[in-house]
Amino acid sequence: MIEDILKKSKLDKTDLIHLLQAEGPDMERLFKKSMAVKEEYVQNKVYFRGLIEFSNICRKDCLYCGIRKSNGKVHRYDISDKEILKAAEFAYDNHFGSVVLQSGEQKSPVFSKRIIKLLDGMNQLSGGKLRVTLSCGEQTKETYKEWFEHGAARYLLRIETSDRELYAKLHPNDRLHDFNERLQCLYDLKDLGYQTGSGVMIGLPFQSHESLANDLLWMQSMDLDMVGMGPYLEHEETPLYEYRHFLMPQKKRFELALRMIACLRILMKDINIAAATALQSIDKLGREKAIKIGANVIMPNVTPGEFRDDYHLYNNKPCTDENPEDCKSCLEMRIALADNKIAYDEWGDSEHYRRRILNSEF
Ligand code: SAH
Repeated sequence: MIEDILKKSKLDKTDLIHLLQAEGPDMERLFKKSMAVKEEYVQNKVYFRGLIEFSNICRKDCLYCGIRKSNGKVHRYDISDKEILKAAEFAYDNHFGSVVLQSGEQKSPVFSKRIIKLLDGMNQLSGGKLRVTLSCGEQTKETYKEWFEHGAARYLLRIETSDRELYAKLHPNDRLHDFNERLQCLYDLKDLGYQTGSGVMIGLPFQSHESLANDLLWMQSMDLDMVGMGPYLEHEETPLYEYRHFLMPQKKRFELALRMIACLRILMKDINIAAATALQSIDKLGREKAIKIGANVIMPNVTPGEFRDDYHLYNNKPCTDENPEDCKSCLEMRIALADNKIAYDEWGDSEHYRRRILNSEF
């Protein structure tokens, strides 16, 4: 019985598998519980992060991703530093409090120095008031350290799936796509003091409910501060597209993603959970629905409009034809509909991180 599971203080794998399959009234019970946990631990507040997808150049060849190296049909771009800083300024002027710099995976001393320059620039334009999250893939611990010292406070690196066997099916089998290395990066980030975020894709071919339940338990065991996870969306120009017949319908993937978010909120009460943009590709109100049942972070796209179409990770990516202003005002209205409030001018650091640090000091 779902009610009995929801009363438990500790959820195990079997419980989670049940919750991930909850339908109809049972799903509503799950959401009711996750909404209550959200309200109690992180309140009905939403933090905005201005998302700047500054380059789609990538050295990796992940079998699911539209900007993988081997996709010759992508127009590759790299936004100039000046424009990146302008986008950051836009976010700051609009009281977002925080930005995320995301790109394809590049790893070189030149890239590393460039990020340092950008971090310094953002610090300067905001007098240190803009919180910066990086999401620039796997790097050496040295590089992560330098970025941290130049003001990067948070880092997002999705594990994509914590299931090693599935990971091997989604990536080429070579040193560049090594599960252990990705995991080591997450340990390094935590060790350096970053607010550390990870996440998975939901509804992948060959992915079972058990595998997803294990993902949730993995997030808990990693003691993450932030999680971003969303539905997998097929992309024609990727090898995984061949397996699209194995996928559940998009609507089902969307519901499963919502149940994952609800379960995670119940498991990890005080972390930040992002409502992934991919949710909105399936359902126009997807992110707001996620906010309602447990997520508390939205990343409005502030990438200059002309580049947005080229950061094409999957089909039907939303909002690529809008300018950032449009995005902000339509979001405001929809968050109000989800009975939540936008916390402007707040950094919105992970409450979990704050407690984690306090506990380690005493
Ligand atoms: N280079 C950075 C950021 C990658 S893009 C890094 O590796 O961390 C951000 C995320 O988009 C990825 O981590 C992946 O989870 C997601 N993504 C990529 N292809 C996708 C697809 N086809 N469907 C849904 N999400 C996808």
